[in-house]
Amino acid sequence: MLFQHPDYEHETVLFGQDPGSGLKAIIAVHNRRRGPAIGGCRMMAYPDESSALTDVLRLSKGMTYKCAIGDIPFGGGKAVIIGDPASQKTPELLHAMGDLVNQLGGRYITSFDSGTTLEDVAIIGERTAHVGGIQPGAGNASASTAYGVLVCMREAARLRLGADSLAGLTVAIQGVGNVGSRLAELLAKDGAKLKLADVASELAQTVAAKTGGETVPIDKIMTTSCDILAPCALGGVLSAASVPELSCRVVCGGANNQLVDNSIADQLLDEEIFYCPDYLANAGGIIDLHYQLKEPSRDDLKNHLDGLAHTLQECNSFSQSHNCSMAVAADQIAEARFR
Ligand code: NAD
Repeated sequence: MLFQHPDYEHETVLFGQDPGSGLKAIIAVHNRRRGPAIGGCRMMAYPDESSALTDVLRLSKGMTYKCAIGDIPFGGGKAVIIGDPASQKTPELLHAMGDLVNQLGGRYITSFDSGTTLEDVAIIGERTAHVGGIQPGAGNASASTAYGVLVCMREAARLRLGADSLAGLTVAIQGVGNVGSRLAELLAKDGAKLKLADVASELAQTVAAKTGGETVPIDKIMTTSCDILAPCALGGVLSAASVPELSCRVVCGGANNQLVDNSIADQLLDEEIFYCPDYLANAGGIIDLHYQLKEPSRDDLKNHLDGLAHTLQECNSFSQSHNCSMAVAADQIAEARFR
């Protein structure tokens, strides 16, 4: 089944189970040309094993592109544990996962993802040294993700709107959780006007009060009139149906997999909406992890995050010179860095 899988182009796929703890897991190492594969460990009650396999194959490939576009010396990997994190996650299961990660001898470095926490990764780390994100004194990766989005947004505003700064521009943020709330605070400092929405309406109100923004109903945030739209909640929000409804000139946000597929980026181009590729905008989190693993100064981290603006310029130039969308441009630039 694996060899015929349409998403299979990987270096290694490791299946593991431990009847004692109930662990059933898959680790996928997509590409290590730039360095060891890195990516979180997701735990989810998948409807069947083939959805878990598809998920881990796609997510690990996405990590290869993200590490390459973020210019860090890592390749793409990901792990999935098949099971309900609320009822099936135990220290024994996490230890068994640590043993599985360890079998790869450092070819894959794990961290947290949906369904796992920093504490879980620390338990996995009791069995393997190949974990990231739990170093003492490490910063919060979400802060770096938010800062990376801000860097890209400033550059997108310069390229598309001819704006020297974000002051006075209206930014609409869908989702004010870890990334969105921090982004709102940074934007407020830059003098942007904020429109905020979250399914957790009290959270949206709290962030609005802190940043001087206004709240918008969740079913209006994607279509509200603004200069920049920042999806920071869910994937798949940019589709053939939603793009014509947008009322912005730039899309730049932290959410993963914002486009239903790459053809949507062509549609954005046709609508003259500047799209910052999502895995470039949100690469700050994985860049942060790199600096946690290598323990240099936070100044190096900031310089690296500031460099995302240069990569966005590169994507923009490539898109113009090759007459392609920003999504294709980012993929081509990333591929040239890891193939
Ligand atoms: P989070 O869960 O802390 O925040 C997401 C917020 O979105 C929550 O407050 C949730 O209530 C809200 N939300 C959910 N559905 C919504 C909807 N339909 N409308 C409005 N709000 C909605 O998650 P996060 O860590 O902030 O991550 C946000 C996105 O960024 C995710 O797609 C994640 O994969 C991606 N991302 C995060 C990081 C990171 O460092 N945290 C790094 C890279 C990518």
